[in-house]
This record gives sequence, structure tokens and C-alpha cells, in this order.
Amino acid sequence: MKSLRFPRLRLVAVFCAIAAAAPSSAADPSLRAAASVPPVAGLARALGAGRWTCDSVVRTGADPHTWEPSPRDVAALSGARLFFASGMPFEKVLADKVSARNHDLCVVELGEGGVIENDHDAHGSHGAHDSHSDLHGWLSPHELAEWAESVSAAFAEQDPDGAKAYAKALADTKAGLDALERELRQRLPKGIVFGAVHPAYGAFAEAFGLEQVALETDGHEPGPRALARARNRLRSRGARVILVQNDAEARLCSSVASECSLRVVRVSPLSDDPLSAIREIAAAVAPDGGGEKSVPGPASR
Ligand SMILES: [Zn+2]
Repeated sequence: MKSLRFPRLRLVAVFCAIAAAAPSSAADPSLRAAASVPPVAGLARALGAGRWTCDSVVRTGADPHTWEPSPRDVAALSGARLFFASGMPFEKVLADKVSARNHDLCVVELGEGGVIENDHDAHGSHGAHDSHSDLHGWLSPHELAEWAESVSAAFAEQDPDGAKAYAKALADTKAGLDALERELRQRLPKGIVFGAVHPAYGAFAEAFGLEQVALETDGHEPGPRALARARNRLRSRGARVILVQNDAEARLCSSVASECSLRVVRVSPLSDDPLSAIREIAAAVAPDGGGEKSVPGPASR
């Protein structure tokens, strides 16, 4: 197995032993990729211009922070040529297992610094009001555009015949992200403070100059002191909304929400359409509302 990192601004060619072999056609079954989570798989499908398939190893509805690969997951990945890693805790374990069966798999590391080496502790880095980038980097349009460049470069390197199609798909994706970012900058005044149960929105908040106050600390349910701290901060900063991903999170925040007069809004940061996810979260925290979805329905973390 090879582990690849594309420089964030300057893309260079990547070399994988198997790469050149396959002659490509629109339906070449060897053009198989996999991604760690649904948003990255969705991004890759959009960038693959119909030439690549890309499934997420963590399926919609599962929690990527506690997920562990089964033998079936390992077997499924064994037929893939590319794996897009995004810094989730399980990736290292999965990569090690797959490498025993598929020596030619190229791992493309998206996200920031040493992604594949991350362990679960990395999640602890998004604390009660952390505004730094986190494991959910796809929720930042700028970050996602950089990921898109890496994904597209990997496709072109593996399948040079499709280079033109990948360039077009990349340009379209980046144009969509630019437009979304411009629109949301208008809609989201800097300094908005919002609550969250799980600290999934740090990259989103950072991208738009907002502040996330999360109840969970270090990946755990908050104790009484952490809860009191978060409550004080939400009140003093005038937060109006708290984001949840599922019923369990809605239950966890219900007392804080009523004490701080917060609207509980369900969002889907793990959607396989990351642009829609960004738009949905923006609508939830924007001063002009959104927020019709304050009743929890089925979803996942
Ligand atoms: Zn998370």
C-alpha cells in the first residue's frame, strides 16, 4: 500500500505501481475508489465524471468515530485502486488490514497534517468552543476545494485518458463551491455563536468567522461542569440555535436548549452531498432563519 499526500497548493504527480496498466473506457470496472465517509465519497463521485465508482466504507447512518471495519469492509476495499482518507480514527486500522490483501491500493490523504496517523485522541482537540479545523473539514468550502483538487489529481494520475473529464468536473465543483462560499458570506454575519452537541462544525465555523460551542468534550458526554460552562457561554454570547444530528443528541441537549432558549435544529453533516450539508448548516445558524427542521427525525452523527 502506498500512502500519498498531495501538497495543498502545488499538486504533483503521484506514482502508483498499478496505475498505468488499465486502458480506460467510460465503464472500466477497474476504476474503483473508496472513501472513508459519505461526504468524501459523494465529492469523489462528482469529480470522477462517471468514470469511477466510489463508495464510502462508513455507510450513511453509522458513526465514523466509533466505527470499526468488519472483514467484509476490508474485503470490499481490496478491489479498490484508490482510498480517500479524511482523518477518521479508523483509517489507520483499516489501511493496515487492507494492505495485507491489496498491495496496490493508493491511499490519498485529504485533510490536514499526518491524517493517516491520527488516532481517536485527535477528536479531543475540538473542545467546548474550539474554532479550529477539525475532522469534519469537508464542511469548509475552502478546505473542500483543496480536497477536490487532490481527488481529481489522483483520478487523472490513475486514468490519464480521463484527464480532460476530470479537469472539467473539478472546475465545475470548484465553481459551485466558490458560489456557495460567496452566497454564505453574505448570509452569515461574522461572530454568530451557535451550539452543537457533537463538535462537528469547527471547520465550518472557522470558514465563516463563526463560533461553535459544543457540549461534548473530548468525544464524551459532558459532565456537570462542562455543561455549566457551555450553558454560560451559550447564554452570554447570545446563541439562538443548537445543532443535533440524531435523537440521542436532541435528548442530550434538551435541558440546555430550554434553559438557554435555543432552537434545536437537526442537520446532516455526514450527507453524501457535502455542498448541501454546508448549505443546510448555514441555513440553520443564519440570522434569517431556516430552522423549519427543529423536530428530530431519522439521521446519524
Ligand atoms: Zn466528529
